[in-house]
Amino acid sequence: MKILVINAGSSSLKYQLIDMETEQLMAKGLCERIGIDGHLKHSPLVGGKPVFDEDISLPTHSEAIAAVIEKLTSAEYGVVASMKEIDAVGHRVVHGGEKFASSVLINDEVMAALEECTPFAPLHNPANITGINACKAVMGDVPMVAVFDTAFHQTMPGKAFMYAIPYEYYKNDGIRRYGFHGTSHRYVSSRCAELMGKPIEELKIISCHMGNGSSIAAINGGKCVDTSMGFTPLVGLPMGTRCGDLDNGVVQFLMNKYGYSIDEMLNILNKKSGVLGVSGVSSDFRDLDKAADEGNERAALALDMFHYWVAKVAGSYVAAMNGVDAIVFTAGVGENSKSTRAAICEYFGYLGVKVDEAANSKRGEDVMISTPDSPVKVFVIPTNEELVIARDTRDIVG
Ligand code: AMP
Repeated sequence: MKILVINAGSSSLKYQLIDMETEQLMAKGLCERIGIDGHLKHSPLVGGKPVFDEDISLPTHSEAIAAVIEKLTSAEYGVVASMKEIDAVGHRVVHGGEKFASSVLINDEVMAALEECTPFAPLHNPANITGINACKAVMGDVPMVAVFDTAFHQTMPGKAFMYAIPYEYYKNDGIRRYGFHGTSHRYVSSRCAELMGKPIEELKIISCHMGNGSSIAAINGGKCVDTSMGFTPLVGLPMGTRCGDLDNGVVQFLMNKYGYSIDEMLNILNKKSGVLGVSGVSSDFRDLDKAADEGNERAALALDMFHYWVAKVAGSYVAAMNGVDAIVFTAGVGENSKSTRAAICEYFGYLGVKVDEAANSKRGEDVMISTPDSPVKVFVIPTNEELVIARDTRDIVG
């Protein structure tokens, strides 16, 4: 069975074709600047075919999907003989609200429910829906599955997902903590259990997804019991450009003082804050590391804040779960920055965590970075959201 995994953004579309017999990645690529001018980078990964990397006209997502299918099946760049070899499509969908606690086969009823979730993710869900419709238009009735960023977090108990505001906002409007990065937290926590050789049902795991956006999840017995992102991905840790937790009074103060509209204010909190805002240098941790090494105090402060917040939130999850067996780092920063991991692990001294420096220097593989005598194990596990989407699609369609 061959599965096409699609992650559609408002002007971009990422894809992977995965052979599920072997879970081998056959091709991957990215359409960019959809609706502007258009660019496609397509990389075949089997058969020794060349990479296609050119500007092409992509007025809408339908042309993007058509271009992807054309490349996947072409004599020069293709990895399958025809579209018929693609058995199913798995779509990443950002927000499933309370309607979706797991992945689902897409039909008209599901499409209507996705539309109903759109107010919760007004930038992301419409793009995901557009991607699904474009696939339908180009690929006909190939079965399609929606896999949600929020679904894994639906096991959180009320005490973790409720906000302490009048109850009717939850009941009438769905205002609550939803959490994001669920597919990543699910993948790395189950991989962590495999690496520990124990059933996930017996483990308490704290998963730290640290990329441009960052979130932490507390996973008790395989079920998410708390997570740091909330109603939107804006809260929790300070991130590349998002502010993380912030006193709402600051919003009112700044809007009054500078006459910002709510859109201007949210743009500052989403795009100009986080480690970028504090450092004034960059949202990229590589730039921050370099600047801090060169003596830039604000870059050092931004990094210190990030480490502190990861440790603080993770520590609260040790309390929430009454213990922890393993801590996992993943995503761009978690997988690549050994200095970030080492600095965060310093805070875990009270758990007896000791870092093995040689293991912490490895990259690109699953690795335990704690010493063998460390009572709490610490892992780096490269995330693979596309594989989870493909597996769910296979399980549902198969
Ligand atoms: P992601 O959102 O998971 O793709 O992560 C992207 C982020 O990972 C970038 O913005 C960088 O901050 C970070 N990153 C990638 N490579 C490195 C590295 N070698 N060292 C530190 N941070 C890195």
